[in-house]
Amino acid sequence: MVVVAHPHDFTHCAGTCGIHASRGDAVTVVTLTNGATKHNERLYDELIKPPAERAPRIVNQSREDYAREKLREFRAVCGLFGVGDVRVHGFAEPYRMERTLESVETLKQIILEVRPDIMISHRRYLRGRSGMVSASRNEHDEAGFATHEAMHLASLPDPSSDVPPHSVALTYYLGAFFETDEIDFYVDIGDWAEKRVQAEVLFATQGHTEAFARKRIEVDAGRAGWVCGTQYAEGFVRCDADLFDELPVPDRALQRARGKRMDQLRRMSGELPGPSKA
Ligand SMILES: [Zn+2]
Repeated sequence: MVVVAHPHDFTHCAGTCGIHASRGDAVTVVTLTNGATKHNERLYDELIKPPAERAPRIVNQSREDYAREKLREFRAVCGLFGVGDVRVHGFAEPYRMERTLESVETLKQIILEVRPDIMISHRRYLRGRSGMVSASRNEHDEAGFATHEAMHLASLPDPSSDVPPHSVALTYYLGAFFETDEIDFYVDIGDWAEKRVQAEVLFATQGHTEAFARKRIEVDAGRAGWVCGTQYAEGFVRCDADLFDELPVPDRALQRARGKRMDQLRRMSGELPGPSKA
């Protein structure tokens, strides 16, 4: 289960969700807002013009109509990655958990219905440059707080309910909202990178062109892949330390350590397929 603040935030783990959906795992994506006030770059560009020069088609588009268009794009993006269970909530922007406690209850009910093993959401940490903690409220952080609150409530026994409590086994945060040296692990999304590009293109309401989409994925998923020695990847941060029966040794770690160095370079550049395709 994935919980994000805005529709586009899902893209940061879309390749990973595509991998799991294609293996038969059930994936549910929840967006707390419909993104009605976000990334309307075309409107911004019209409103900085003198009134007489503004394009009526863009200026007169209602916020609801813009949100409807974005949600059509969002559902199409989820479909690209095999995700059919898409839940959209129009909680008000700017989203604040305390102001919208209804959203915590909504999330709790979805958790009790879907009963996910894995939760992917926004970080629950406030952070800032040079150790200065940000005092400004951020919708992504708020979505992370709400998700944690909902997971906690869903795990509490409630004798008045017929629905048993549910504890989520593993919680991961979207690596896109962390610095590179804070990432705990990466998932190789080499087979899904082109779909990540298509997803960016589909968000046309946010002004994305194909050139922008390719550049974005190259510097975003491409940078993540570069750091961990593959072509494209998505990073994640663990909520809790993992518990293992012994020290885990992923095949990918052995391959990187024992494989040919030239093969490694060719794998990073896409000239050699990753192990999932080999
Ligand atoms: Zn967002």
